[in-house]
Amino acid sequence: MATVKRFSIFCPKCHHRFSLFAMLHHNIDVDTWVKEKADNHDCKAYADQMAKERAPRPVNPIKASKKSA
Ligand SMILES: [Zn+2]
Repeated sequence: MATVKRFSIFCPKCHHRFSLFAMLHHNIDVDTWVKEKADNHDCKAYADQMAKERAPRPVNPIKASKKSA
């Protein structure tokens, strides 16, 4: 009986490590599958997502100038 397993996949292109949950049939070669997933990683989408999450909040110019005054 197949069970859902968690696979840790490392993208060699953007060096991002991510997890995938998948139910693999016993006739699937896990190493090949993992490599395929790494090869198919959407590096651009990931980079965009990271850029969004890391985008600094716009600095409030009034507060910023108060500090130095
Ligand atoms: Zn990638």
